[in-house]
Amino acid sequence: MRQFTPFISKSKYLNGLQCHKLLWFHYNAKDQIPAFDAHTQAIFDQGHLVGELAKKLYPGGIEVARGERDFGKILELSKGALSQRKPLFEAAFKSGNAFARVDILNPVGRNDWEIVEVKSSTEVKDVNLHDLALQRYAYEGAGLSITKCFILHINNEYVRKGEIEPKKLFAKTDVTNEVGDLLRSVPSNLRTMVDVIRQKSFPNIEIGQHCNDPYGCPLQELCWKFLPEHNPLTLYYFKKDKAFELIHDGHLDIRKLPPSVNLGDKQQIQIDALRTGRPHIDKEGIHDFLERIEYPIYYLDFETFGTAIPLYDDVRPYEQIPFQFSLHIVEAEGKKPKHESFLADGKSDPRPGILKRLKKLLGAKGSIVAYNAPFEKDKLKKACDVFTEYSNWYQSIEPRFVDLLAPFKSFHYYNPDQCGSASIKAVLPALTGKSYEALEIAEGGTASLEFLRVTFGDVDEKERQKVRRQLEEYCTLDTEGMAMIVEELGKMAR
Ligand code: SF4
Repeated sequence: MRQFTPFISKSKYLNGLQCHKLLWFHYNAKDQIPAFDAHTQAIFDQGHLVGELAKKLYPGGIEVARGERDFGKILELSKGALSQRKPLFEAAFKSGNAFARVDILNPVGRNDWEIVEVKSSTEVKDVNLHDLALQRYAYEGAGLSITKCFILHINNEYVRKGEIEPKKLFAKTDVTNEVGDLLRSVPSNLRTMVDVIRQKSFPNIEIGQHCNDPYGCPLQELCWKFLPEHNPLTLYYFKKDKAFELIHDGHLDIRKLPPSVNLGDKQQIQIDALRTGRPHIDKEGIHDFLERIEYPIYYLDFETFGTAIPLYDDVRPYEQIPFQFSLHIVEAEGKKPKHESFLADGKSDPRPGILKRLKKLLGAKGSIVAYNAPFEKDKLKKACDVFTEYSNWYQSIEPRFVDLLAPFKSFHYYNPDQCGSASIKAVLPALTGKSYEALEIAEGGTASLEFLRVTFGDVDEKERQKVRRQLEEYCTLDTEGMAMIVEELGKMAR
């Protein structure tokens, strides 16, 4: 019987380097691989925008086989385009089992070419080098002379001033030597991968750090489902390699770990709370923390977004820009919280509006409580560094910040329902019974994607308003939740 010959593209090659089981599923049981989630899709969309901008650095370039789906036709059109000696975008070549479609193939001299791979990251990663090694292998095997390999990535020193300047936004790194070193291993890697793909059943591979390196594997739901809720990966600040070692040795439930396992104080508290089913409460620690909070209390939370291509002036690539805040103000003990909020409306820089409102609302005294306060402080400071008329004001409010994460990070309180997490998403339901579950938008990553989608995307007004309401609900719960948490801590300390 003749065996089928799989073509291995650069993405499948990288899958194969990450895990042979993942590779096998791609060719033999693709229907069991879940579709990309919204977050992954947004990363792809961003990569597409970055790729389009990079083409501006190669004027006169030709889009090869755009929209063409027929594999043979794409190869034929790519080969035909070579004679024009112009930059080629997405030209495809194959050699043996390897198939590659490079972002930019740039002509040099009379017969040579450079490979330019565009990445939306701010640095060259190992995975990019493997990616290029496969491409170079396919191209050279198809008869092209490749003299150099480059990664064109985002320059994180760039600060937008006016129109985006692609020449400044991108940094070009020569990786010819590194790719040359990896090139030698490509043929044997490909042979092994072809053997894996042709196996009747998937290879038996244990879960491990590779499930998230270099990318989160989409098969985790399938491969990790044997883990119980309280498994070693949930141990607070426990090294992941050690957690996987315990799992491989059959220690799946942290309540049953042998005494020989070296645990820190917090991990021991976590396990003891689980075993007894009761929360751990350090009354004195909670009391000392609450002593630092003064009325009126301002519970503040920001939502932010960061894009590879800065949307506004004075912004760097991926800089987190606040677009929304929620503020609950409690004037005095026992008083009902008053709610204020801000959600950027439109496409202009939201920072001046946020600073103006907060300067008015935060008053001259009282604590500003945030969950993981360094984040809120950093966003405010960076905004004030640009809008310098607020610099003095920021200096005056900075000492008033109190971090509500602190008592949970210190394990002054730990509830077994937190499952080893001190985040507000784990603490709020465990401590107060109030949860994020019923909300359409239930975490910061989704909030930022949804804001960008309804603000800059092509959506109708009804959808836009619906999402804006959901954003308000989500951010409001963060600060309302903080007020509830402080109230509960107060009861414990009394
Ligand atoms: S979850 Fe881990 S073991 Fe399973 S296919 Fe993915 S990388 Fe491989």
